[in-house]
Amino acid sequence: MSTIQLEPDKVIRVGKIICVGQNYMRHIEELKSVRNKDPLIFMKPSTAILPEGKAINLPDFSKEVHHETELALLVGKEAKNISREQWKDHVSGVGVALDLTLRDLQNEAKKNGHPWTICKGFDGSCPISIFTPLEKITDIQKLSIQLFVNDSLRQDGFTGDMIWQIGELLAFISKIFTLEPGDIILTGTPEGVGKLNPGDHLRASISEVGTMEFKVQ
Ligand code: MG
Repeated sequence: MSTIQLEPDKVIRVGKIICVGQNYMRHIEELKSVRNKDPLIFMKPSTAILPEGKAINLPDFSKEVHHETELALLVGKEAKNISREQWKDHVSGVGVALDLTLRDLQNEAKKNGHPWTICKGFDGSCPISIFTPLEKITDIQKLSIQLFVNDSLRQDGFTGDMIWQIGELLAFISKIFTLEPGDIILTGTPEGVGKLNPGDHLRASISEVGTMEFKVQ
């Protein structure tokens, strides 16, 4: 059973993990991709969750595991067909997550029109922090996102640069999927994604939310 922790000591069973792809313009450009008309949605199973304290294992079926540092939301109350103004009533916590991506397998899948299930959803593909209650966040669209790999700054983004802001994302997603307590939403990565190597040390942080550290095995 996969769980996350919401401060101070609340353990929550994770449901589905819904991820938003290509939600920052400069990340779309670095992937040489084209902006989609609607938010790009994919999912990870709950077994993707990797809590802090465990090491990231690079799977042997990929030669290129990329880091994508993202703001994560924890659903606290069921949501279906909500308006963009209602999102705060349905989110209970905010966290830091990595959307680990097997870029070589993803490029192959894109070329062939195949799904992203393997390259995005493998075991441990979602390292995640302890969540902070939403009420502690001043303005969710004014947070800085940073990732250091071996003390060098790799990603340095700002949640205000999201193409689809949190309210729009939840309105869109809740039209398609009923969001239930324990579900997690990853909101997309800013630019600066790159390859991980054995021995790397990662420190990801989002202002007002927190910092998490992971070692790559
Ligand atoms: Mg991502």
